Amino acid sequence: MEVFLHFFCPGSARRLLSPCRFSAFTVSLPRMKTLKGIAASPGIASGRAFLYADDGLPEIPRYHIHAEDAPGELARLEAAFIQADAEISRLHERALMELGKEKAEIIAAHRMMLEDEEFRGQIRTRFEANHENIDWVVFDYCQELAQLLGVSSDPYLRERSADVADVSRRLLSALLPVKRVSLADLEETVILVAHDILPSELLAMRPGRVRGIVMDMGSRTSHTAILAQAFGIPAVLGLSFATREISGGDTVAVDGLAGEVAVNPAPRALAKYRAAAGRYQKHVDSLRSGRDLPAETKDGRRVALAANIEVPEEARGALEFGAEGIGLYRSEFLFLTPGQNAAEENQFRAYLRVVETMGSRPVTIRTVDVGGDKVNPGLHGVEEKNPLLGWRAVRFCFAAPEFFKTQLRAILRASARGKVRIMFPMISGVEELEQALVLLEEAKAECRKKKQPFDEEIEAGTMIEVPSAAMTADLLAKKSAFFSIGTNDLIQYSLAVDRGNERVSYLARPTHPAVLRLLKITIDAAHGSGIRAAMCGEFAGEVRAAPLLIGLGLDEFSMSGAQIPRVKRVIREAGAADCRDLAEKILAAGSPGAADALLDEWFLRHPGAETA
Ligand code: PEP
Ligand code: MG
Repeated sequence: MEVFLHFFCPGSARRLLSPCRFSAFTVSLPRMKTLKGIAASPGIASGRAFLYADDGLPEIPRYHIHAEDAPGELARLEAAFIQADAEISRLHERALMELGKEKAEIIAAHRMMLEDEEFRGQIRTRFEANHENIDWVVFDYCQELAQLLGVSSDPYLRERSADVADVSRRLLSALLPVKRVSLADLEETVILVAHDILPSELLAMRPGRVRGIVMDMGSRTSHTAILAQAFGIPAVLGLSFATREISGGDTVAVDGLAGEVAVNPAPRALAKYRAAAGRYQKHVDSLRSGRDLPAETKDGRRVALAANIEVPEEARGALEFGAEGIGLYRSEFLFLTPGQNAAEENQFRAYLRVVETMGSRPVTIRTVDVGGDKVNPGLHGVEEKNPLLGWRAVRFCFAAPEFFKTQLRAILRASARGKVRIMFPMISGVEELEQALVLLEEAKAECRKKKQPFDEEIEAGTMIEVPSAAMTADLLAKKSAFFSIGTNDLIQYSLAVDRGNERVSYLARPTHPAVLRLLKITIDAAHGSGIRAAMCGEFAGEVRAAPLLIGLGLDEFSMSGAQIPRVKRVIREAGAADCRDLAEKILAAGSPGAADALLDEWFLRHPGAETA
């Protein structure tokens, strides 16, 4: 294949006019490579990559075009070029204004590519040769081009592969009817590769169709990671360039324990991954066998181990892992699928399903925490500059009191059928908690009026996930039945680290002294007021955190169900007094590195509390 690439030759605009040829570089497909990312959901899986475009491109159809329809197809192509060119011009202008000339060059290259006669000519020639629909021709040609560039030995040309992908996406969006690809439509079992996946999109996924998740974005505590764990899908996130490095159809092995992704591994390497997956499954099964043992330290301190769930169906699995209750039911997932019916009856049925599955065990239902990265355009359709600091959780609920009270009534009604607790997210101070409690009283009054039974003694607790809440925990404790610490947000807000941004995820250290002090203040304040201190952030499910959290006096740990057996194993190997000493030393250590070293040392002294 011989293609002139005017727009790819590095250097000045003058040099852009001198063509370079593909024949100048070597092509060898497929290449094996290993990518390193964040181990976000444990387990090992392999399979074929499915590249999920988050920009709404549907699957590209491929069909024959009759000779009489050919002019129409070429007209479509022309129109798509005009539309794409207009879009790119607008983008270029904005980039020039906001990013400066140098950065705007990237967009300028896209424009040059669109205007390049050779590029257009290639598409037309292919169309005339095969008489296939023009969107397929564009897709097929650009994919081939991007792949060839992607394996070039010249780094400059390799990077241009992303430009081709970008331009082809723009042309295809102009050519195709706008229709989002839904993960609900997956026909095969795949390894999902994406730049980013919204939690609502992941929820639409058909169970069993996704074996593993690989993503450019995301961190250990991002909502995609949480959902992947909930579904038991191994995931490696925060890879930055996975969508560039992996092509649809590549064989991919995902190691969610090591945070590693092997692309097109050699048969031997693939066999190793498969064997490791088998061993891991056996290990999980063996851990499950201890599910009826109490979570008690060697010197008799008993704590509760509960599960976090996002959908009612997870409750059964949680029981299998030995959950003593649900410490966090993220109820917002009921509303995250656009068009979802949020009627009281619907909610009531969902809550009841969890309550009935859990029998006499407590179920903590957190009121809706939409906003941030969890947005349903139909419910909370606002664009915000800083959504994580914006109209989220109770802030949104207070602005929609009828919506909020509908949820509270549904929760109250479910409380008549089991042990239910209510929990308010994103509370930043006493007045917010008071406002939530007033609305709860109103909802109770409405239930009484309708003669709907509920648990008059229902506990209402506060999530401590905003630093201001931790700092005023003594005040909040007086009005809360319990605390549950949301470390995912507490770390994000106290260390100023966006939990979904892989570039800064290295800074999200739960053992940072600032975080540890906030934990201590919160737990001590809870105990000072005679209430329980629970934790439902991801830190509670980290095996390495268990001795520290026992030492800090945490009463209840809530985590992804699959983590329960591992954390329990550590707790049963630990002594509460020893852990208190450890916590004191860690609090005095002064840095995350020193704290982690103390934890390493503890695990060396307790070989039975394996960290796998
Ligand atoms: C948290 O912030 O730690 C938490 C448990 O809530 P979420 O992860 O749903 O924000
Ligand atoms: Mg939170």
